[in-house]
Amino acid sequence: MKAAHPHAPAQAIASLWDSHHFSALDKSHLRHADIQPVLDEIADYPSITRETIGYSCTGKSIERLSMGSGPLIILAWTQMHGDEPTATAAVLDWLKLLHLNSTSNSLALGSDWTSLVTLHIIPMLNPDGAERDTRVNEQGIDINRDAKQLQTPEGRLLWQQVQTLKPDVAFNLHDQNPYYSAGPTGYPATIAFLAPAFHPDKHVDAPRLRAKQLIACMADTLSHWLPCHIGRYDDTYSLRSFGDNIAGTGASTILIESGAHPNDPHRQVARKMNVIGLHSALEALLGNLYQQKSLADYYRIPDNVEDGLVDIKFSRVAQRCASHDYVADISVNRDKQGRATVKHIGDLSGQAGFTNISAYQTTILPVKAYQLDGPMVLTETDYLALLKQGFSVFTGDSSLLDNLSGLPVLCLPEPPAYSTLYPGADAFWIMQDSEGKQRAVLNGKMINL
Ligand SMILES: [Zn+2]
Repeated sequence: MKAAHPHAPAQAIASLWDSHHFSALDKSHLRHADIQPVLDEIADYPSITRETIGYSCTGKSIERLSMGSGPLIILAWTQMHGDEPTATAAVLDWLKLLHLNSTSNSLALGSDWTSLVTLHIIPMLNPDGAERDTRVNEQGIDINRDAKQLQTPEGRLLWQQVQTLKPDVAFNLHDQNPYYSAGPTGYPATIAFLAPAFHPDKHVDAPRLRAKQLIACMADTLSHWLPCHIGRYDDTYSLRSFGDNIAGTGASTILIESGAHPNDPHRQVARKMNVIGLHSALEALLGNLYQQKSLADYYRIPDNVEDGLVDIKFSRVAQRCASHDYVADISVNRDKQGRATVKHIGDLSGQAGFTNISAYQTTILPVKAYQLDGPMVLTETDYLALLKQGFSVFTGDSSLLDNLSGLPVLCLPEPPAYSTLYPGADAFWIMQDSEGKQRAVLNGKMINL
């Protein structure tokens, strides 16, 4: 008997992904038009069928790709939230690799796997939201809160697919914000799993047990690549959500959230991990390997901790409020448009920054605004001179300011009502260390003065 390396099969899909994934999908965002050439290519694979199953609000096609003809039905859908594209690329990659396997059998699934399983994949359930890069659909509705009312065409379509196909296993594939950590570790949760509850009491029936066992198998495999970056999502029952309702149909339902990884702006690490994870679930189903896992294996995955991370953390900065001196940590996050604002002030010992700045014995100077009273061409030299005088903000008509400095500026219509920072404030300030050396923070970016 041949003793296989425990990760050997996943190693095969990982290498196959490295050489054959759809490189055109390496983008920070995916729209309907981005995936059409890929769908066309996949539709040409003899082992895969493509069917348009419905249309979005604005009439964009929603398609299903299917493979196999076996009795065990697996259904996966992606990008129900339009701005969560990572798994869309992953499921399309996975289909390509499964197709390559059908001629080479390099994945060692066994030649008869397609007679045991039928795999249905709906990539990009919300193409209108994808077009606008928003969570919601064209009606402004969060499809994942429409599982009961079914007022969105996309939600109705998903529910109808579930009713018709009656999946045994369902994969609900999302992206989460980058600030979740895997346990209280400071490591971003690149992948988070959940076997959603189907009742407020969170009963574990046989299908939900199988979902948890499959997750334990997937986490086991992924821990080889991501030893500290896997989280377990909170299982509070959500009455209006699809995962919870589909779990209620008796499908073993698995939520996978793709998350951040250091130096990976397009989430290609999470994309590859989705492929490896989905594939290891398929292997676990084909070989009944999941039955070796217990609930304890599932609960051993650390919590997916919300706000465990921030973009920038300044530790132990001194400030003065009225006549009162105090020391606090300050965290700063950037939004999608790149605007950096203060998130929290205080004891942030439970949070880690993607960037961490020790500001021990550094004092934030009171925020001072420079009044614009006429047109101003701002060169770098001018700006640095103003910053050295303590001005970190402009006030007045922003059209008067012609910023040629190459540095971020903040121009407010009215002078700021604050002189000390507060949550929500723009991340523009000046700080000074105990030797009198000053540094400016301009939209979160730090420069020496
Ligand atoms: Zn989502």
